[in-house]
Amino acid sequence: MRETRRNIAVLGSTGSIGRQTLDIIAEYPDLFSAWLLVAHSSADLLIAQARLCHPHMVIIADEQYYEYVCDALEGTGIEVATGSAAIAQAVTSAEIDTVVTAMVGYSGLESTIAAIQAGKRIALANKETLVVAGELINRLLQDSTSVLYPVDSEHGAFYQCLVGERMQDVEKLWLTASGGPFRTLPKQQLATVTAADALKHPNWSMGAKITIDSATMMNKGFEMIEARWLFGIEPRDIEIVVHPQSIIHSMVAFKDGSVKAQLGLPDMHLPIRYALGLPDGRLASDGRKMTIEDMATLTLERPDFDKFPLLNTAYAAARQGGTAPCVMNAANEVAVAAFLQNKIKFTDIYTIIEQTMAQAPYVAHPTYDDYVASNADARARASELIGIF
Ligand code: NDP
Ligand code: MG
Repeated sequence: MRETRRNIAVLGSTGSIGRQTLDIIAEYPDLFSAWLLVAHSSADLLIAQARLCHPHMVIIADEQYYEYVCDALEGTGIEVATGSAAIAQAVTSAEIDTVVTAMVGYSGLESTIAAIQAGKRIALANKETLVVAGELINRLLQDSTSVLYPVDSEHGAFYQCLVGERMQDVEKLWLTASGGPFRTLPKQQLATVTAADALKHPNWSMGAKITIDSATMMNKGFEMIEARWLFGIEPRDIEIVVHPQSIIHSMVAFKDGSVKAQLGLPDMHLPIRYALGLPDGRLASDGRKMTIEDMATLTLERPDFDKFPLLNTAYAAARQGGTAPCVMNAANEVAVAAFLQNKIKFTDIYTIIEQTMAQAPYVAHPTYDDYVASNADARARASELIGIF
């Protein structure tokens, strides 16, 4: 066992991954302690978490809740800050060992970069960081002592299958997808599904944005790009396979014909626990374990690219590179938010992304500032398109 506890920064502690991360921290009090908690506007939950875990610091990104959080935590000795610049600053603190990036969307990019530059161990849930700027992130990692461990269950699976293997022996990655709530729905009916329908994920309980991304299968496109940057594999060597039971979390096919798969119950505590245990080893757990019945009826099928065209969009963006995935991500964030507010139809998400990508300027070798500009430009274009719909 490690002699010192790891101080953990949980960016997005009030979200689905953040709350489950706090469960794991509480499960192993000798190994971990929460040092920094960050939320956007869930002030009451952040306050409750702070009272329970007693971190060194909390940040409420939305400034309108700053006074409220300060008042609630007065006398506790917990430092309170606000604003996104404070997050990027706080993660560089020498006291922090590990940063769990569980903020949602583009908002995670700046603080992840700051954590890399500060040499932190990073448990990455915020896949949008790699979708938007994977090339830049990999360049920054080369110049840093920082390490990135995947939290996403599929990428945790790839990581586990690749332990002890040489990357030159890998033929392809098989990225599993549940298929989402509309896997068996006829394509013509997709135009009339509601946000409530799309939020009913068959296997996973997650935040609203990623649940909609799962329903459109944009999430799987994002995960293909995430895998590309995490494991240095070309998009053409990453194949998506639909596996409705979400027990096989992903597989690696090797050049000798062997395939390795990682299996587990569909519970994000497992990949979070694995990521936080790295590189020391697995953390024993009393949670429910797999049974033969859980594995008795596993099925695999090919994805329907015609019904879920955002899969093609993601492969095209990955091949194009540069700012193309950044534009796709920005348009998706805007379109998903509009769909959740019942402003557009489910199928409009695809149209808005495609139209934004067709219009937006393209930078082949972006700097950080290019990504910032590209994200802002694409968001403005997508918002304008939504006004027309
Ligand atoms: P949630 O929507 O449940 O939570 C998002 C968290 O980020 C909340 O704590 C939210 O605060 C905070 N947040 C949002 N915007 C900002 C901001 N601008 N500044 C500071 N904090 C912010 O999302 P999930 O937990 O579902 O997902 C988080 C990330 O993990 C996503 O990138 C997702 O793709 C990835 N992921 C999630 C999985 C899951 O099972 N949920 C599985 C694999 C990956 P507040 O509560 O105040 O709004
Ligand atoms: Mg996943």
